[in-house]
Amino acid sequence: MSTRPILLRGARIIDPSQELDDIRDLLLADGAIVGTAREIAPPEGAEIRDVQGLVVCPGLVDVHVHLREPGGEHKETIATGAISAVAGGFTSICAMPNTNPPIDNPAAVGFVLAAGIRAGTARVYPVGTISVGMKGERLSEVGELVEAGAVAITDDGRPVSDDGLMRLALEYARTFDIPVASHCEVLSLARGGSMNEGVVSSRLGLAGIPGIAEDVMVARDLILAEYTGGRIHIQHVSTRRAVELIREAKARGVRVTAEGSPHHFTLTDEAVDGYNTNAKMNPPLRSADDRDAIREGVADGTLDTIATDHAPHHYDEKEQAFADAPFGIVGLETALGLTITELVEKKVITLNTLVERMSCAPARAFRLPGGTLRDGAPADVTIFDPTASWTVDPRRFHSRSRNTPFAGMTLRGQPALTIVGGRVVWEREGSQ
Ligand SMILES: [Zn+2]
Repeated sequence: MSTRPILLRGARIIDPSQELDDIRDLLLADGAIVGTAREIAPPEGAEIRDVQGLVVCPGLVDVHVHLREPGGEHKETIATGAISAVAGGFTSICAMPNTNPPIDNPAAVGFVLAAGIRAGTARVYPVGTISVGMKGERLSEVGELVEAGAVAITDDGRPVSDDGLMRLALEYARTFDIPVASHCEVLSLARGGSMNEGVVSSRLGLAGIPGIAEDVMVARDLILAEYTGGRIHIQHVSTRRAVELIREAKARGVRVTAEGSPHHFTLTDEAVDGYNTNAKMNPPLRSADDRDAIREGVADGTLDTIATDHAPHHYDEKEQAFADAPFGIVGLETALGLTITELVEKKVITLNTLVERMSCAPARAFRLPGGTLRDGAPADVTIFDPTASWTVDPRRFHSRSRNTPFAGMTLRGQPALTIVGGRVVWEREGSQ
Protein backbone atom coordinates (compact mmCIF):
# COMPACT_ATOMS: atom_id res chain seq x y z
CA MET A 1 0.00 0.00 0.00
CA SER A 2 1.48 3.31 -0.98
CA THR A 3 1.05 6.36 1.21
CA ARG A 4 2.10 9.98 0.82
CA PRO A 5 5.53 10.82 2.14
CA ILE A 6 5.37 12.62 5.50
CA LEU A 7 7.74 15.43 6.41
CA LEU A 8 7.91 16.22 10.13
CA ARG A 9 9.33 19.70 10.54
CA GLY A 10 11.29 21.24 13.37
CA ALA A 11 10.96 18.45 15.90
CA ARG A 12 13.21 17.62 18.78
CA ILE A 13 14.30 14.21 17.54
CA ILE A 14 15.43 11.88 20.31
CA ASP A 15 16.89 8.60 19.10
CA PRO A 16 19.29 6.94 21.54
CA SER A 17 20.00 4.17 18.97
CA GLN A 18 22.12 6.72 17.08
CA GLU A 19 22.80 9.07 20.01
CA LEU A 20 20.68 11.73 18.39
CA ASP A 21 19.03 14.58 20.30
CA ASP A 22 18.64 17.56 18.02
CA ILE A 23 16.13 19.87 16.33
CA ARG A 24 15.69 18.46 12.82
CA ASP A 25 13.28 17.51 10.07
CA LEU A 26 12.41 13.85 9.56
CA LEU A 27 11.21 12.42 6.26
CA LEU A 28 9.20 9.21 5.91
CA ALA A 29 8.32 7.56 2.61
CA ASP A 30 7.20 4.14 1.41
CA GLY A 31 6.85 2.91 4.97
CA ALA A 32 10.46 3.63 5.90
CA ILE A 33 12.62 6.33 7.45
CA VAL A 34 14.28 8.29 4.65
CA GLY A 35 16.47 10.45 6.86
CA THR A 36 16.88 13.47 9.11
CA ALA A 37 18.50 16.82 8.43
CA ARG A 38 18.41 20.42 9.64
CA GLU A 39 16.14 21.24 6.75
CA ILE A 40 14.59 18.86 4.24
CA ALA A 41 12.90 20.11 1.07
CA PRO A 42 9.47 18.44 0.85
CA PRO A 43 9.21 15.91 -1.97
CA GLU A 44 6.34 16.07 -4.45
CA GLY A 45 3.00 15.38 -2.80
CA ALA A 46 4.40 15.17 0.74
CA GLU A 47 2.24 15.81 3.75
CA ILE A 48 4.02 18.46 5.81
CA ARG A 49 3.52 18.63 9.56
CA ASP A 50 4.97 21.28 11.78
CA VAL A 51 5.87 19.54 15.02
CA GLN A 52 7.88 22.29 16.73
CA GLY A 53 7.89 21.96 20.48
CA LEU A 54 7.14 18.24 20.30
CA VAL A 55 9.42 15.26 20.72
CA VAL A 56 9.79 12.80 17.84
CA CYS A 57 11.20 9.40 18.74
CA PRO A 58 11.27 5.79 17.54
CA GLY A 59 7.82 4.27 18.09
CA LEU A 60 7.24 3.05 21.64
CA VAL A 61 7.29 -0.72 22.16
CA ASP A 62 5.40 -2.56 24.91
CA VAL A 63 6.51 -6.16 25.28
CA HIS A 64 3.89 -7.03 27.90
CA VAL A 65 0.25 -6.59 26.87
CA HIS A 66 -2.84 -8.74 27.50
CA LEU A 67 -5.33 -8.46 24.64
CA ARG A 68 -7.88 -11.05 25.89
CA GLU A 69 -8.77 -12.38 22.43
CA PRO A 70 -9.72 -15.16 22.03
CA GLY A 71 -12.04 -15.82 24.94
CA GLY A 72 -12.24 -12.49 26.78
CA GLU A 73 -13.54 -10.12 24.12
CA HIS A 74 -15.78 -8.31 26.61
CA LYS A 75 -12.57 -7.03 28.27
CA GLU A 76 -10.51 -6.27 25.16
CA THR A 77 -10.04 -7.46 21.60
CA ILE A 78 -6.89 -7.43 19.52
CA ALA A 79 -8.36 -4.46 17.61
CA THR A 80 -9.39 -2.41 20.67
CA GLY A 81 -6.10 -3.17 22.41
CA ALA A 82 -4.16 -2.08 19.34
CA ILE A 83 -6.06 1.24 19.22
CA SER A 84 -5.44 1.73 22.92
CA ALA A 85 -1.76 1.14 22.17
CA VAL A 86 -1.43 3.76 19.44
CA ALA A 87 -3.45 6.24 21.55
CA GLY A 88 -0.79 5.71 24.21
CA GLY A 89 2.04 6.29 21.71
CA PHE A 90 2.92 2.60 21.23
CA THR A 91 3.59 1.41 17.68
CA SER A 92 4.39 -2.21 18.61
CA ILE A 93 2.98 -4.48 21.29
CA CYS A 94 3.60 -8.08 22.28
CA ALA A 95 0.42 -10.05 23.01
CA MET A 96 0.62 -12.37 26.01
CA PRO A 97 -0.62 -15.91 25.32
CA ASN A 98 -2.81 -16.46 28.42
CA THR A 99 -6.03 -16.18 26.45
CA ASN A 100 -8.80 -18.75 26.44
CA PRO A 101 -7.68 -21.01 24.86
CA PRO A 102 -4.00 -20.09 25.28
CA ILE A 103 -1.73 -19.33 22.31
CA ASP A 104 0.11 -22.67 22.48
CA ASN A 105 0.03 -23.80 18.83
CA PRO A 106 0.96 -22.39 15.40
CA ALA A 107 -2.66 -21.84 14.31
CA ALA A 108 -3.34 -19.70 17.37
CA VAL A 109 -0.18 -17.67 16.72
CA GLY A 110 -1.39 -17.16 13.15
CA PHE A 111 -4.78 -16.00 14.42
CA VAL A 112 -3.21 -13.27 16.59
CA LEU A 113 -0.94 -12.15 13.75
CA ALA A 114 -3.78 -11.96 11.25
CA ALA A 115 -6.11 -10.14 13.64
CA GLY A 116 -3.35 -7.62 14.37
CA ILE A 117 -2.77 -6.96 10.69
CA ARG A 118 -6.52 -6.66 10.10
CA ALA A 119 -6.79 -4.11 12.93
CA GLY A 120 -4.26 -2.02 11.01
CA THR A 121 -3.00 0.19 13.83
CA ALA A 122 -0.21 -0.97 16.15
CA ARG A 123 1.98 -3.88 15.11
CA VAL A 124 0.89 -6.87 17.18
CA TYR A 125 3.53 -9.52 17.86
CA PRO A 126 2.29 -12.84 19.24
CA VAL A 127 4.01 -14.52 22.15
CA GLY A 128 3.51 -18.27 22.52
CA THR A 129 3.16 -20.29 25.71
CA ILE A 130 6.05 -22.08 27.36
CA SER A 131 3.89 -25.08 28.23
CA VAL A 132 1.06 -26.82 26.42
CA GLY A 133 -2.23 -25.36 27.65
CA MET A 134 -0.21 -23.26 30.13
CA LYS A 135 -0.45 -26.25 32.41
CA GLY A 136 3.21 -26.08 33.39
CA GLU A 137 3.82 -29.70 32.43
CA ARG A 138 4.98 -30.25 28.84
CA LEU A 139 7.01 -27.85 26.72
CA SER A 140 5.14 -26.31 23.76
CA GLU A 141 6.44 -27.02 20.26
CA VAL A 142 8.71 -23.98 20.43
CA GLY A 143 10.07 -24.34 16.90
CA GLU A 144 6.58 -24.43 15.41
CA LEU A 145 5.51 -21.38 17.43
CA VAL A 146 8.53 -19.41 16.24
CA GLU A 147 7.99 -20.57 12.66
CA ALA A 148 4.41 -19.26 12.87
CA GLY A 149 5.59 -15.86 14.11
CA ALA A 150 5.91 -15.99 17.90
CA VAL A 151 8.64 -13.61 19.08
CA ALA A 152 9.03 -15.07 22.57
CA ILE A 153 7.52 -17.64 24.92
CA THR A 154 5.95 -17.15 28.34
CA ASP A 155 3.32 -18.63 30.65
CA ASP A 156 2.70 -15.13 32.06
CA GLY A 157 -0.15 -14.95 34.50
CA ARG A 158 1.32 -18.08 35.99
CA PRO A 159 4.85 -19.02 36.98
CA VAL A 160 6.67 -22.02 35.54
CA SER A 161 6.97 -23.89 38.82
CA ASP A 162 8.78 -26.92 37.37
CA ASP A 163 12.50 -26.09 37.38
CA GLY A 164 13.30 -28.75 34.79
CA LEU A 165 10.68 -27.37 32.42
CA MET A 166 12.15 -23.88 32.75
CA ARG A 167 15.60 -25.24 32.00
CA LEU A 168 14.25 -26.94 28.88
CA ALA A 169 12.41 -23.78 27.79
CA LEU A 170 15.65 -21.78 28.05
CA GLU A 171 17.56 -24.40 26.05
CA TYR A 172 14.97 -24.38 23.25
CA ALA A 173 14.69 -20.61 23.30
CA ARG A 174 18.44 -20.42 22.91
CA THR A 175 18.25 -22.65 19.84
CA PHE A 176 15.61 -20.39 18.28
CA ASP A 177 17.17 -17.17 19.59
CA ILE A 178 14.07 -15.89 21.39
CA PRO A 179 13.70 -14.73 24.99
CA VAL A 180 11.80 -16.64 27.65
CA ALA A 181 9.63 -14.13 29.51
CA SER A 182 9.12 -15.16 33.10
CA HIS A 183 6.39 -14.35 35.61
CA CYS A 184 8.28 -15.03 38.83
CA GLU A 185 6.10 -16.22 41.68
CA VAL A 186 6.65 -19.17 44.00
CA LEU A 187 3.06 -20.25 44.57
CA SER A 188 3.76 -22.02 47.84
CA LEU A 189 5.04 -18.69 49.20
CA ALA A 190 2.32 -16.54 47.60
CA ARG A 191 -0.32 -18.84 49.10
CA GLY A 192 -3.25 -17.29 47.28
CA GLY A 193 -2.60 -13.82 48.70
CA SER A 194 -4.17 -10.80 47.08
CA MET A 195 -1.81 -7.91 47.96
CA ASN A 196 1.69 -7.24 49.27
CA GLU A 197 2.46 -8.86 52.61
CA GLY A 198 3.20 -6.08 55.06
CA VAL A 199 1.78 -3.51 57.44
CA VAL A 200 -1.04 -2.55 55.08
CA SER A 201 -2.19 -6.14 54.47
CA SER A 202 -2.26 -6.71 58.23
CA ARG A 203 -4.30 -3.57 58.77
CA LEU A 204 -6.76 -4.50 56.02
CA GLY A 205 -6.91 -8.15 57.07
CA LEU A 206 -5.99 -9.38 53.59
CA ALA A 207 -3.74 -12.35 52.83
CA GLY A 208 -0.35 -11.12 51.66
CA ILE A 209 2.04 -12.14 48.87
CA PRO A 210 5.55 -11.69 50.28
CA GLY A 211 8.32 -10.19 48.17
CA ILE A 212 10.32 -13.40 48.62
CA ALA A 213 7.74 -15.22 46.45
CA GLU A 214 9.19 -13.19 43.58
CA ASP A 215 12.83 -13.07 44.69
CA VAL A 216 13.26 -16.83 44.98
CA MET A 217 12.08 -17.48 41.43
CA VAL A 218 14.06 -14.57 39.99
CA ALA A 219 17.16 -16.13 41.55
CA ARG A 220 16.28 -19.53 40.05
CA ASP A 221 15.68 -18.09 36.59
CA LEU A 222 18.98 -16.22 36.62
CA ILE A 223 20.85 -19.37 37.62
CA LEU A 224 19.12 -21.37 34.88
CA ALA A 225 19.78 -18.67 32.26
CA GLU A 226 23.44 -18.57 33.23
CA TYR A 227 23.73 -22.35 33.04
CA THR A 228 21.90 -22.80 29.73
CA GLY A 229 23.06 -19.63 27.98
CA GLY A 230 19.42 -18.88 27.15
CA ARG A 231 17.95 -15.39 27.28
CA ILE A 232 15.67 -14.75 30.24
CA HIS A 233 13.34 -11.74 30.36
CA ILE A 234 12.09 -11.06 33.88
CA GLN A 235 8.63 -9.54 33.76
CA HIS A 236 7.12 -6.87 36.03
CA VAL A 237 9.90 -6.69 38.65
CA SER A 238 8.43 -5.37 41.91
CA THR A 239 10.97 -5.87 44.73
CA ARG A 240 14.30 -4.36 45.74
CA ARG A 241 15.88 -7.79 46.12
CA ALA A 242 14.87 -8.82 42.60
CA VAL A 243 16.41 -5.63 41.20
CA GLU A 244 19.63 -6.40 43.08
CA LEU A 245 19.73 -10.00 41.85
CA ILE A 246 19.27 -8.87 38.24
CA ARG A 247 21.90 -6.16 38.64
CA GLU A 248 24.43 -8.71 39.90
CA ALA A 249 23.55 -11.17 37.13
CA LYS A 250 23.97 -8.52 34.44
CA ALA A 251 27.38 -7.66 35.87
CA ARG A 252 28.33 -11.35 35.54
CA GLY A 253 27.26 -11.40 31.90
CA VAL A 254 24.05 -13.42 32.29
CA ARG A 255 21.77 -12.86 29.30
CA VAL A 256 18.95 -11.17 31.17
CA THR A 257 16.58 -8.32 30.37
CA ALA A 258 13.94 -7.04 32.76
CA GLU A 259 10.86 -4.87 33.04
CA GLY A 260 9.78 -2.10 35.37
CA SER A 261 6.10 -1.17 35.17
CA PRO A 262 4.68 2.32 35.64
CA HIS A 263 2.42 1.22 38.51
CA HIS A 264 5.37 -0.30 40.35
CA PHE A 265 7.46 2.86 40.10
CA THR A 266 4.52 5.13 40.94
CA LEU A 267 2.41 3.51 43.67
CA THR A 268 2.83 1.56 46.90
CA ASP A 269 0.54 -0.88 48.69
CA GLU A 270 -1.02 2.13 50.46
CA ALA A 271 -3.06 2.51 47.25
CA VAL A 272 -4.97 -0.63 48.23
CA ASP A 273 -6.47 1.24 51.21
CA GLY A 274 -10.25 1.25 51.04
CA TYR A 275 -10.03 -2.15 49.32
CA ASN A 276 -9.46 -0.51 45.96
CA THR A 277 -9.57 -3.39 43.47
CA ASN A 278 -8.02 -1.13 40.82
CA ALA A 279 -4.85 -1.30 42.91
CA LYS A 280 -4.85 -5.10 42.77
CA MET A 281 -2.27 -6.58 40.43
CA ASN A 282 0.22 -9.42 40.39
CA PRO A 283 2.95 -8.93 41.44
CA PRO A 284 1.34 -6.52 43.89
CA LEU A 285 2.16 -2.91 44.67
CA ARG A 286 4.83 -3.07 47.34
CA SER A 287 6.56 -0.86 49.92
CA ALA A 288 7.99 2.61 49.31
CA ASP A 289 11.47 1.09 49.50
CA ASP A 290 10.62 -1.40 46.76
CA ARG A 291 9.11 1.37 44.64
CA ASP A 292 12.30 3.40 45.04
CA ALA A 293 14.34 0.37 43.98
CA ILE A 294 12.26 0.05 40.79
CA ARG A 295 13.01 3.71 40.04
CA GLU A 296 16.73 3.15 40.65
CA GLY A 297 16.64 0.04 38.46
CA VAL A 298 15.02 1.89 35.58
CA ALA A 299 17.51 4.74 36.00
CA ASP A 300 20.65 2.58 35.92
CA GLY A 301 19.35 0.18 33.26
CA THR A 302 19.05 -2.90 35.46
CA LEU A 303 15.42 -2.69 34.42
CA ASP A 304 16.18 -1.93 30.78
CA THR A 305 12.56 -2.00 29.64
CA ILE A 306 9.43 -0.17 30.76
CA ALA A 307 6.41 -2.41 30.10
CA THR A 308 2.79 -1.85 31.10
CA ASP A 309 1.42 -5.35 31.80
CA HIS A 310 -1.80 -3.89 30.33
CA ALA A 311 -4.43 -6.21 31.85
CA PRO A 312 -8.00 -5.22 30.99
CA HIS A 313 -10.87 -6.43 33.18
CA HIS A 314 -14.56 -5.69 33.06
CA TYR A 315 -16.08 -3.32 35.64
CA ASP A 316 -18.27 -6.05 37.15
CA GLU A 317 -15.27 -8.31 37.75
CA LYS A 318 -13.38 -5.55 39.55
CA GLU A 319 -16.53 -4.74 41.59
CA GLN A 320 -16.18 -7.98 43.54
CA ALA A 321 -14.74 -8.19 47.04
CA PHE A 322 -10.99 -7.46 47.03
CA ALA A 323 -9.87 -11.05 47.54
CA ASP A 324 -12.13 -12.26 44.69
CA ALA A 325 -11.42 -9.53 42.12
CA PRO A 326 -9.01 -10.39 39.28
CA PHE A 327 -5.44 -9.07 39.23
CA GLY A 328 -4.40 -6.38 36.78
CA ILE A 329 -4.91 -2.87 35.46
CA VAL A 330 -4.97 -1.25 32.03
CA GLY A 331 -1.78 0.64 31.26
CA LEU A 332 -1.29 1.51 27.60
CA GLU A 333 -2.85 4.96 27.71
CA THR A 334 -1.22 6.15 30.94
CA ALA A 335 2.32 4.75 30.58
CA LEU A 336 3.97 7.66 28.79
CA GLY A 337 2.37 10.27 31.06
CA LEU A 338 3.28 8.34 34.20
CA THR A 339 6.87 7.86 33.08
CA ILE A 340 7.30 11.54 32.28
CA THR A 341 5.53 12.66 35.46
CA GLU A 342 7.13 10.23 37.88
CA LEU A 343 10.59 9.73 36.39
CA VAL A 344 11.45 12.58 34.01
CA GLU A 345 9.87 15.49 35.88
CA LYS A 346 11.33 14.18 39.14
CA LYS A 347 14.77 13.96 37.50
CA VAL A 348 15.14 10.19 37.96
CA ILE A 349 15.77 9.76 34.21
CA THR A 350 16.13 12.01 31.16
CA LEU A 351 13.82 12.01 28.14
CA ASN A 352 16.62 10.21 26.28
CA THR A 353 16.57 7.40 28.82
CA LEU A 354 12.78 7.27 28.60
CA VAL A 355 13.02 6.64 24.85
CA GLU A 356 15.72 4.02 25.43
CA ARG A 357 13.57 2.17 28.02
CA MET A 358 10.28 2.47 26.13
CA SER A 359 11.48 1.88 22.56
CA CYS A 360 15.10 0.92 21.84
CA ALA A 361 15.67 -1.61 24.64
CA PRO A 362 12.37 -3.51 24.37
CA ALA A 363 12.78 -3.75 20.57
CA ARG A 364 16.27 -5.18 21.09
CA ALA A 365 15.22 -7.59 23.84
CA PHE A 366 12.47 -9.14 21.68
CA ARG A 367 14.39 -8.70 18.38
CA LEU A 368 11.61 -6.59 16.90
CA PRO A 369 11.97 -4.28 13.92
CA GLY A 370 11.85 -0.67 15.14
CA GLY A 371 13.34 1.00 18.17
CA THR A 372 15.35 3.24 15.86
CA LEU A 373 14.97 6.11 13.38
CA ARG A 374 17.97 5.06 11.31
CA ASP A 375 17.66 5.48 7.54
CA GLY A 376 15.78 2.55 6.07
CA ALA A 377 14.18 1.44 9.36
CA PRO A 378 10.39 0.96 9.46
CA ALA A 379 8.64 4.33 9.71
CA ASP A 380 7.27 3.69 13.20
CA VAL A 381 7.34 7.03 14.96
CA THR A 382 5.89 8.43 18.17
CA ILE A 383 5.38 12.17 18.54
CA PHE A 384 4.56 13.51 21.98
CA ASP A 385 4.24 16.72 23.91
CA PRO A 386 6.53 16.37 26.94
CA THR A 387 4.95 19.26 28.84
CA ALA A 388 1.21 18.90 28.12
CA SER A 389 -0.76 18.57 31.32
CA TRP A 390 -3.84 16.33 31.34
CA THR A 391 -6.10 14.50 33.76
CA VAL A 392 -6.70 10.76 33.47
CA ASP A 393 -10.34 10.13 32.60
CA PRO A 394 -10.98 6.40 32.08
CA ARG A 395 -14.20 7.16 30.19
CA ARG A 396 -11.99 8.49 27.41
CA PHE A 397 -9.82 5.39 27.14
CA HIS A 398 -9.81 3.61 23.79
CA SER A 399 -9.38 0.33 25.61
CA ARG A 400 -12.56 -1.63 26.20
CA SER A 401 -11.74 -1.66 29.93
CA ARG A 402 -11.42 1.12 32.50
CA ASN A 403 -9.65 -0.57 35.40
CA THR A 404 -7.02 1.97 36.41
CA PRO A 405 -5.88 3.30 39.78
CA PHE A 406 -4.85 6.56 38.10
CA ALA A 407 -8.31 8.05 37.43
CA GLY A 408 -8.33 11.76 38.25
CA MET A 409 -4.54 11.99 38.43
CA THR A 410 -3.00 14.93 36.58
CA LEU A 411 -0.09 13.87 34.39
CA ARG A 412 2.54 15.65 32.34
CA GLY A 413 3.35 14.42 28.86
CA GLN A 414 0.92 13.21 26.24
CA PRO A 415 1.12 11.48 22.84
CA ALA A 416 0.17 13.74 19.92
CA LEU A 417 0.63 11.61 16.81
CA THR A 418 1.43 7.96 16.21
CA ILE A 419 2.78 6.72 12.89
CA VAL A 420 3.12 3.03 11.98
CA GLY A 421 4.72 1.97 8.71
CA GLY A 422 4.63 5.57 7.46
CA ARG A 423 0.90 5.90 8.04
CA VAL A 424 -0.73 8.14 10.66
CA VAL A 425 -2.74 5.66 12.74
CA TRP A 426 -3.68 7.96 15.60
CA GLU A 427 -3.80 11.68 16.25
CA ARG A 428 -4.89 13.40 19.42
CA GLU A 429 -7.87 15.63 18.87
CA GLY A 430 -6.91 19.26 19.03
CA SER A 431 -3.21 18.63 18.40
CA GLN A 432 -1.60 20.36 15.42
ZN1 LIG B 1 2.67 -11.69 35.06
